[in-house]
Amino acid sequence: MGGHARFSPSVANRRINCPPSLVLEENFEDVESQYAAEGSAGHALAEYLIKRYLKKSSERPESDYYTNELIEAVDEYVSYVIGDIEKAKQICMNPMFLVEQRVDASDFVEDCFGTADMVVITDKVIHIIDLKLGRGVPIYAEENPQLMIYGLGILRMADFIYDIEIVKFTIFQPRLNNLSTWEITTDALKTWGEDVLKPRGAMALMGTGEFKSGKWCRFCKARNQCRARAEEFLSLAKMEFREPALLSDEEIIEVLKVSDELSKWASEIYSFAQDQAIVHGRVWNGFKLVEGRSNRKYTNEDEVVEAANAAGYTDIYKQTLVTITEMERLMGKKEFAKVLGHLVYKPQGKISLVPESDKREAIKKNTAVAEFQEV
Ligand code: SF4
Repeated sequence: MGGHARFSPSVANRRINCPPSLVLEENFEDVESQYAAEGSAGHALAEYLIKRYLKKSSERPESDYYTNELIEAVDEYVSYVIGDIEKAKQICMNPMFLVEQRVDASDFVEDCFGTADMVVITDKVIHIIDLKLGRGVPIYAEENPQLMIYGLGILRMADFIYDIEIVKFTIFQPRLNNLSTWEITTDALKTWGEDVLKPRGAMALMGTGEFKSGKWCRFCKARNQCRARAEEFLSLAKMEFREPALLSDEEIIEVLKVSDELSKWASEIYSFAQDQAIVHGRVWNGFKLVEGRSNRKYTNEDEVVEAANAAGYTDIYKQTLVTITEMERLMGKKEFAKVLGHLVYKPQGKISLVPESDKREAIKKNTAVAEFQEV
């Protein structure tokens, strides 16, 4: 196994849904984002802490990314894993614990391997636990192709020793308070491997199949220039409205359904084009770079104080409290809750209209008219 899988489980959702994305993305450079680097540092710390608990040798990693907040997020994950390890010891004579385990799924797709964060194997169950340190969107375990590939790889290793019936997956995403668990029978997992992963993986490696845009485009390196994605969004924008002059409720609902996605896509393309112009000097016909409005700034604060004092103005400082996030970072989550928990409240958030599929619970909001009528 080399260091870099062509078909990486971590982007399997994209490959399965849009197979030719693999070959298309190979035209773009690999750039490690600061989020990815922070995530790697968090995983290294988790690995060290779990191995230490299991009395396996490991060196404590060092990184500038280790803020109190990241350490606490990792700690939460480690506590969950330790709880699962202890449960496994109670129900199984010979449980197996694998930390940062290299997993090979090349039986299904050539050059497909990755690393499972934590694997707990008991007599009949494989439990794969995945730490996600992102704060963007919650990731769910249900039918998650990355975890299903890990499951197939671990099954390949464990099937000789154990009589595995169930493969269970957990995603632990501490920064979003997201704990998502899902399980599948080994037979169903193998069927998915044969019927979905194998054919889709082969297409991806050859660059065949259809381009299809969706949620999986989010981190695709081709997303800003992808024709399939642009066509999809532009077709959303082409709506046919009929008479009469005013839109019906149904037509407004149609616009609402696409407006969020459309505006996100448009602003991504805008940022991409702007970045290309500023950083790479690229010229877009019909567009130019201009300077935006800016606010006045002091050139040198010490000299400002000196000059103001000399002119008789001494009451020139103001003191403000650090923000809640800064305070929490300063004290650490637990200490913050103990010292200031009772002095913090969460005002009602701004009410917005979102699609039914949004995970947040709907609020019961009386309209202003209804409230008026109740008086
Ligand atoms: S942006 Fe989306 S549709 Fe285009 S190649 Fe990437 S995953 Fe496929």
